[in-house]
Amino acid sequence: MLMTIYAYHMKLNKILLHTCCAPCLVYIHEKLGEMNIDFDTYFYNPNIHPFKEHQKRLQTLREYTSQFELKLIENEEFLQEKWDNGFKCEDCYRIRLDKTAEFAKNNGYRAFSTTLLVSIYQNHETIIGICKDMEEKYDIEFLYHDFREGYRKGQDKARELGLYRQKYCGCINSYNSSKFKDKISWD
Ligand code: SF4
Repeated sequence: MLMTIYAYHMKLNKILLHTCCAPCLVYIHEKLGEMNIDFDTYFYNPNIHPFKEHQKRLQTLREYTSQFELKLIENEEFLQEKWDNGFKCEDCYRIRLDKTAEFAKNNGYRAFSTTLLVSIYQNHETIIGICKDMEEKYDIEFLYHDFREGYRKGQDKARELGLYRQKYCGCINSYNSSKFKDKISWD
């Protein structure tokens, strides 16, 4: 029993990486390897609509992490009703990064970060600001790097690997406004 308690409080020499999807993980996986930073992936994306899409992105991530022997921690909470009620991108980032930082702190990780930082389509500065808030709230380091340098490279590699690449950001609003809406299928 004492051993278990000791292990729980020991600091892991790895970071917890909030992971929105496998394609966005590809470049960061490569870059963290170059930086000699060990990490576990944490799937917590209750924004993704509909549930079939949520499961498809999670399943793709399961296949990727299994192929490359990465640890995947899954939180399958699905909270679509919040986005139906007018959640904004800032709220969407905050709910996911809050849970990530909290999990990282409670489970002994030395820091946290997010694959949202690779996207050229997300609001990078807002994400940084929220991560800094979480760093203070949970007293855990936020590992920052501007991964956008490798966005195209990562997407090209994801295509080569045959990974499912979604056609919209995630929530119901982004689904409804996707110009590819007619081409989206979950079969
Ligand atoms: S567009 Fe993307 S980041 Fe913004 S609320 Fe929707 S899922 Fe979240």
